[in-house]
Amino acid sequence: MAAKPISVLVTGANRGLGLEMVRQMLETQRPLNMLFACCRDPDGARAEALQTLAKTHPEIVKVVRMDMADLCSIKKSAQQVGSLLGDKGLNLIINNAAILVHSGITDTTPEDMASSFNTNVIGPMSIIQEFLPYLQAAAKDSGLPGMSCRKAAVVSISSTLGSIESTPQSYEHFKTVPYRVSKAALNMLITCANLELQKDEILCTLLHPGWVRTDMGGANAAIEAQESVQGMLQVMNSMTEKDNGTLQDYNGQRIPW
Ligand code: NDP
Repeated sequence: MAAKPISVLVTGANRGLGLEMVRQMLETQRPLNMLFACCRDPDGARAEALQTLAKTHPEIVKVVRMDMADLCSIKKSAQQVGSLLGDKGLNLIINNAAILVHSGITDTTPEDMASSFNTNVIGPMSIIQEFLPYLQAAAKDSGLPGMSCRKAAVVSISSTLGSIESTPQSYEHFKTVPYRVSKAALNMLITCANLELQKDEILCTLLHPGWVRTDMGGANAAIEAQESVQGMLQVMNSMTEKDNGTLQDYNGQRIPW
């Protein structure tokens, strides 16, 4: 039997790993029903590459305005996505957008910590809350057994920098207190979400993309976005209920929390 077309939503889709995800999904993840490519300024210069890509697949790619740090914006985009989906559910949400503030324990301001939490933790939490009915509809409609990203899933992009266990090895080089704290909190958020949503057969999991050459990862990073995303999509495609609540890297290796 032919696979059912799926609908996917990616946040922070206008550059870096998010844009590469949209690009590669259009090439490899068929059949796709709709791909909601979310960014906070769809009409701005930083969304030009995404808009160009969207024009080549207008029937699939829907560029949606969504500011992860603004609950009203997330609610509005949920309404917009819901009206486009109709009664079809949303199969996969990729919580990718994030900010990284470089500061240590003595120079991190309350504002740095609050903005990191707004974008990196509260945004992903609000997305789960606002889009939950669409995930539940997808899980019911899919007809697939168990859990998978083709059925209903939330995949959140975390980082080894959020790992408490490995912080002593990396702290000297990456003094990014608000980012580390927010990614550790994201890991806990997704652990809780996985426990609450498994009754609906919604997979909730975390991926570390590697150290990647993007605006965030910098020019000295280890790998290109193309390699990272290729790996993450492969890992997502093979996920089952065994992966629920885990943190893996782009090669599918479990990494310490
Ligand atoms: P980039 O800095 O290159 O891109 C970040 C993306 O997030 C941009 O699209 C940006 O949009 C978006 N974004 C930031 N704030 C908001 C907001 N308030 N609302 C909507 N969108 C927002 O980062 P990467 O692509 O490298 O990172 C993607 C993910 O991977 C992140 O979760 C990051 O933490 C994680 N990661 C990355 C690593 C790396 O080495 N690159 C390593 C480990 C994890 P805008 O253009 O509007 O700013």
